[in-house]
Amino acid sequence: MDIDDLKTRILAGERRALARAITLVESGRADHRAQALHLLEGLKGHGREALRVGLSGTPGVGKSTFIETFGLMLTAQGLKVAVLAVDPSSARSGGSILGDKTRMERLSRDRNAFIRPSPSQTQLGGVARRTREATDLCEAAGFDVVLIETVGVGQSETMVAEMSDLFLLLLAPAGGDELQGVKRGIMEMADILLVNKADGDLKATALRTCADYAGALRLLRKRPQDPEGFPKAMTVSALEDTGLAKAWDEMQSLAEWRRDTGHFAARRAAQARFWFNAEVRERLLARLSREPVKGAMAALARQVEAGDLTPTAAAEELLRDHLQMD
Ligand code: GDP
Repeated sequence: MDIDDLKTRILAGERRALARAITLVESGRADHRAQALHLLEGLKGHGREALRVGLSGTPGVGKSTFIETFGLMLTAQGLKVAVLAVDPSSARSGGSILGDKTRMERLSRDRNAFIRPSPSQTQLGGVARRTREATDLCEAAGFDVVLIETVGVGQSETMVAEMSDLFLLLLAPAGGDELQGVKRGIMEMADILLVNKADGDLKATALRTCADYAGALRLLRKRPQDPEGFPKAMTVSALEDTGLAKAWDEMQSLAEWRRDTGHFAARRAAQARFWFNAEVRERLLARLSREPVKGAMAALARQVEAGDLTPTAAAEELLRDHLQMD
């Protein structure tokens, strides 16, 4: 594959080139990895700075409906929108619920939109890396907004928050008891809570739920990266397209404030550091589970069990003799 040609075509905003490049970063083949790295390095600093928006919410809360309505609103304003997904179920089962072809049908036909479902990989770490790299590729291809979607379970939310400039949490109208079901850690990551389905019979409940969340947000510790009034809770109806324009206004004003105050760049820098650390840790762990280190570790473990070596001495021997580390 001619990587320089691919680079030129991505920078020209060619969608097919972008799709091919994402396939390349998803590949586990060593030669593909090398090409992908070469491409990503070559694209660094080119293209445009997209607004990366993370979006999380439990299944059924209305994520795909929201993304479709919101995405169409943005493309109607002339913006280019990419949608990526981190789907922990695809990491486990190899089948992606976020890859369902019927989702976001209208948006997927929009010339200014690009939708890419979550890849099926065995490890969430692999999915995260691919999504992060795909985000860079979308940015290079001139997308204005990259939406990164995830289902609200486990570690996937932290991962998405670590690759977005803004993090949205989509919630359903609910009684007071259910409010407490949202984990504090996830609330703390969110910049804007969107209580969806504020329409018809659910509208009153949605407004009450929104007020409850607004109260809960006020109890959180103030974060330096927030202007007055953030994080905030709002109601929307993805189905009826109400509140979405206002939500977009809020996202833009928050992003602008963070740009002006340096928090935007600082967050990206901290994220780059986070992923560097994560990569190093992951690769070291991967070496432990591969031969010959794996065998050596098992043999040392037996010696430890038999009382022939202390755990510390065995660990030292493993690192020194088998990983060439002090
Ligand atoms: P996801 O699993 O989070 O992607 O949720 P979906 O977007 O597939 O929506 C789940 C269900 O909720 C569907 O039946 C949608 O039609 C419905 N839904 C989504 N948004 C709204 C909304 O704003 N109002 C109402 N009343 N229903 C909605």
